[in-house]
Amino acid sequence: MARATPTTPAVTVENVMMICPNLKCRKVLRVPGQFRGQHVRCHYCQTTFEVPAIKQPTKPTAPAQPPKK
Ligand SMILES: [Zn+2]
Repeated sequence: MARATPTTPAVTVENVMMICPNLKCRKVLRVPGQFRGQHVRCHYCQTTFEVPAIKQPTKPTAPAQPPKK
């Protein structure tokens, strides 16, 4: 009986979902987790930006806008 193939050393890097900081682009970018803390380039507008190294909880951050009517 052959040994089962060893499971790949699980370096589970989750992709980082980011929105391009370029206000004219604002594309949702999926950056591989290994790029955390590094600079990546948006494929759409070529803007270079840094991927936050700290894992952020995915929660919709409400824009801090003063209540205005
Ligand atoms: Zn962009």
